[in-house]
Amino acid sequence: AKTGGKNQVAIYNAAFDEGRLHRLAVEAQIGRGLARGEFEVFYQPEVDAWTGRIVAVEALLRWPRRPEGPLPPDDFIDIAEATGQIHPLGMFVLERACRDIAPLGDLRLSVNVSPAQFRDAHFERQVAHVLEQTRFPPERLQFEITEGYLLANPERVVRAVETFKQRGMSVALDDFGTGFTSIHYLRSYGFSHIKIDKSLLDGLAPGSKAAMLVTGAIMLACGLDMRVIAEGVETEQQADLLRRAGCHKLQGYLFGKPMPLADMIAAWERSERT
Ligand code: C2E
Ligand code: CA
Ligand code: CA
Ligand code: CA
Repeated sequence: AKTGGKNQVAIYNAAFDEGRLHRLAVEAQIGRGLARGEFEVFYQPEVDAWTGRIVAVEALLRWPRRPEGPLPPDDFIDIAEATGQIHPLGMFVLERACRDIAPLGDLRLSVNVSPAQFRDAHFERQVAHVLEQTRFPPERLQFEITEGYLLANPERVVRAVETFKQRGMSVALDDFGTGFTSIHYLRSYGFSHIKIDKSLLDGLAPGSKAAMLVTGAIMLACGLDMRVIAEGVETEQQADLLRRAGCHKLQGYLFGKPMPLADMIAAWERSERT
């Protein structure tokens, strides 16, 4: 032990309390925000790698009307998961997004689903209810789940994916490349898409290690009959390399940031005309 050990403990405790206080405050704010309609859903285009047309959008939660100031999802989704508020929040996103996207031709919709939602026995029934209420065709809906959860719950995931597939929906593996999914599991899950994480695109130049890694991941996915989408595409060079490597869809600031519905519709209509 070093001198000042006692002080360090005191500082640690203060930081701990501050973190806990912050979480408690945000928990209360989420509850209020849901009741008062402070949340919003933005849409980010996913384009066909070859035609450049917008073929799908990913729904991303936003909190623009939080009186304390906007908070990005990475700063409150964890808290909502810990408190169980992810269930009403997730259903808000799904319902709003289905309602918004339903009238837009054959545009597909991707919705992020937290492990806690996917695990929830009521989720499948709630999804069916929303689809019915919004008259959203299940074939146009895809869920995105992250890799981390798979390792802990392989059987549950396989069953849930199967159920959704039987009803016409599809499930994508999000953030691919950030976890350690084995090839064996990847094959048995029944995902229709994998989504290559932005972190794999860093330093993506022809001949680079990053390029070999991404090319390998795409070949693997194609070999397992999955389609591949790359997220976080910011440069023409990345897009070009991904196209050549066989990536089917691209998503990233190069094609459009997450945006309000009206802006997304305008971009989609422009893209349909080309
Ligand atoms: P994610 O599902 O991996 O979503 C992609 C994130 O990357 C989004 O951040 C998006 O805005 C950002 N992004 C997309 N293209 C680019 C790019 O070219 N460059 C850069 N720098 N970033 C890009 P966002 O909207 O802040 O969301 C962060 C995370 O929060 C999401 O990561 C997702 O895990 C979670 N999230 C967002 N909305 C929901 C939701 O409705 N439900 C759940 N469960 N999670 C959500
Ligand atoms: Ca996602
Ligand atoms: Ca992702
Ligand atoms: Ca992510």
